[in-house]
Amino acid sequence: MSERELYCDTCGGVVPFETPPCADGHGADCPELACTGCGTAVLIATVPFRPARLAARRRPPAHRHAA
Ligand SMILES: [Zn+2]
Ligand SMILES: [Zn+2]
Repeated sequence: MSERELYCDTCGGVVPFETPPCADGHGADCPELACTGCGTAVLIATVPFRPARLAARRRPPAHRHAA
């Protein structure tokens, strides 16, 4: 079971969060965690998904002179 301690705004402190039953098919990699104290669900951004290569993003041409 993946469980970790995170800060919960509602509880006002650090409480254990656990992976809720996932209905989205994430399985063990589900990025959702639910507070065991109040039930608030959060998304964690630290899940090591496959590295995305964003460096090759298209960018508009720079230094375009307006005639
Ligand atoms: Zn999920
Ligand atoms: Zn909470």
